[in-house]
Amino acid sequence: MEVTLEERFRKKMLKIGKRNRFLRFCIIPVLALGMFFFHAIKYFRGNGKRFIVLATTFCFFVVYSSFSFPMFISEAQTEDKWNTISDEAQDIVLAEEVEINLEEVELLDDEDVLLAGEVIPETEHGMDIGERYNASDILDYNQDRLPTDSYTAAGATDYENYEFDPDDWRLILINKQNSIPEGYEEKVPLGNINTLKGVMHCDERIIDDLLAMIRAAKDDGVSLLITSPYRDLEYQKNLFNRKVTYYMNTGLSYMEAYQIASRAVTVPNASEHQLGLALDIVTDTFTDLKEGFADTDAGKWLAANSYCYGFILRYPKDKEDITCIEYEPWHFRYVGVEAATLITEKGITLEEFWEEYL
Ligand SMILES: [Zn+2]
Repeated sequence: MEVTLEERFRKKMLKIGKRNRFLRFCIIPVLALGMFFFHAIKYFRGNGKRFIVLATTFCFFVVYSSFSFPMFISEAQTEDKWNTISDEAQDIVLAEEVEINLEEVELLDDEDVLLAGEVIPETEHGMDIGERYNASDILDYNQDRLPTDSYTAAGATDYENYEFDPDDWRLILINKQNSIPEGYEEKVPLGNINTLKGVMHCDERIIDDLLAMIRAAKDDGVSLLITSPYRDLEYQKNLFNRKVTYYMNTGLSYMEAYQIASRAVTVPNASEHQLGLALDIVTDTFTDLKEGFADTDAGKWLAANSYCYGFILRYPKDKEDITCIEYEPWHFRYVGVEAATLITEKGITLEEFWEEYL
């Protein structure tokens, strides 16, 4: 019978153990160790190819990754690198970190931005924002299309029972969450209102009501000035970017500047002026787009009567958290006489109207 190497080894160890009592205690661990190595070598010999592949992969990995180890980068190289960086680095002075309270930054008016910088290049419909169209001029130049005297303007009487339609062009909701649908601008039926200073644009379908409102105000002794009725996207972008730049020049980061600019002016594609349904209205004695307009006769007259002609004060006071726009007593939006009456009677915003009635 053939005796295996393992058995021979075991016998030899046992023999040594019998001869010497002391060695007997040592022989057990030696035997165990011997058996372990024996089996390990046997196993490795049986799987040789597999282990060669593993070892090669491991070596390759070590060699490859070692290229990025600092010890492999020569000293000359590192010194050179450091010198080229340090020359420039010396000139860089890190800005001090300043805590800016965004709530306290003074908001900029459209005019301030325009005065501060170069003139915004005129686009097809974008007009000088500083241009104001006098009510008397508008009425004089548009005699032929003024509504008849029998035009009644007392708001809608049956607005409570009116079936509002979410697809009604007059009710379109545009704000920071709802931007102007793609292709809308191309579809706006732009109408012209001739004035002494040139042609004013807005949605053709609101012109009759607008003229009626201007005339009614004039009859009540209130003179209105219409400013920037329609602005196209290009113009709106220019205006917005200019505000961002202005704030960045005061030391704010882009994100901070963007945040403030979007509080003072609607972000491009979220402006109702792009719809042709919104107008900024001031008066002879108060031509700034500022809160103080609310206290003028014109501001009061518009707040009280504009709904009769389908217009609403779009960004009321104390509703900033809903509209996301500061109080703008000069910005009026056409929604049609039924919705305007309801919104004004209930003292709600267009956002709330959408929530409750559409
Ligand atoms: Zn406006």
